[in-house]
Amino acid sequence: MNELYEVAIIGAGPAGLQAAIHASRRKAATIIFGKIEKSALYRAHVENYLGLFGKKDGKEILETGLKQAQAFGAHYHPHDVVRLELGEKAFLIETEKGEIFQALTLILATGVARRKAKIKGEKELLGKGVSYCVDCDGFFFKGLPVAVIGNGSAAAHGALTLKKITSEVYLVAPKLEIPKELQEELKKSGVQILSDRPLEILGENEVEGLLLEGGKELSVKGIFIEEGAKGALQLATVLGVALDPENMTYIQVDRSQRTNLPGVFAAGDVCGPPFQVAKAVGEGCVAGLRAAEEASRRRRERTNEA
Ligand SMILES: Cc1cc2nc3c(=O)[nH]c(=O)nc-3n(C[C@H](O)[C@H](O)[C@H](O)COP(=O)(O)OP(=O)(O)OC[C@H]3O[C@@H](n4cnc5c(N)ncnc54)[C@H](O)[C@@H]3O)c2cc1C
Repeated sequence: MNELYEVAIIGAGPAGLQAAIHASRRKAATIIFGKIEKSALYRAHVENYLGLFGKKDGKEILETGLKQAQAFGAHYHPHDVVRLELGEKAFLIETEKGEIFQALTLILATGVARRKAKIKGEKELLGKGVSYCVDCDGFFFKGLPVAVIGNGSAAAHGALTLKKITSEVYLVAPKLEIPKELQEELKKSGVQILSDRPLEILGENEVEGLLLEGGKELSVKGIFIEEGAKGALQLATVLGVALDPENMTYIQVDRSQRTNLPGVFAAGDVCGPPFQVAKAVGEGCVAGLRAAEEASRRRRERTNEA
């Protein structure tokens, strides 16, 4: 178990980095998780952000932002988070490398990236058996055969979660790249791992199967696309964070960027549109300051109890 941080930020985009700058300027022990190259800004150019004249390179903004946060004392851990849990006295954060960190407060700044598998039938059958969120929709497939498409830890964890809900689970992963322990866990679980490339999701009004390269057809009722990092919704909903009831797509926050869960804040695109850097950094600033205050209150409480 790693040391106890005061503020842990999940997401290394503009919202997370700005939150880190403000939290660490308040002298809170801060850590940022995530990959800057996965931020929506990384490959974009910005020309509507105050003080930046002309087209500015997103990658450069992020790299400078990270340097600033580190200069103020924030730690950076460039790995994805696969699990969040409310421990007895602190939040537990598990990374794709299997390391566990602890923090007194959390800021969710994971953006809205939802990588698509880009296969035939995906768009047409979205919501009719195709889903991007095992933890949101997995339960609807109790007792039914399902497939998860994806090559990383998120897909592996998704398949393991589904195995607890239903017995027939396929992991379609042409280039599976996951830590050894996770590979072993998968083997033991009974998830069927297939290395064929997925070609087409079959079905008219609902998912009826998945066609793989080579002609094999999986007869499944649900297909979960889990490409890339574990999205915000999964991490948040498992923890018990409430989503905006109007669309169930974004995290609900108040003006202090607080979620319904004490000690958990959210900022940036994950809280909904407009999807703009200016909004993301504004919310990141508020979340960083409020989380630092909350962490120092929690720290005092712990000291008094000791
Ligand atoms: C092509 C394009 C052009 C754009 N142009 C503009 C523009 O001109 N002006 C403007 O204001 N905005 C623009 N935007 C939007 C802007 O990039 C976003 O609004 C902004 O990046 C949102 O910041 P964020 O920090 O909320 O999320 P993101 O920047 O998406 O960052 C999310 C971070 O969370 C991390 N993450 C996700 N899941 C996990 C996990 N499980 N564990 C750890 N980390 C995780 C990601 O890796 C990433 O680091 C553009 C976007 C795109 C795609």
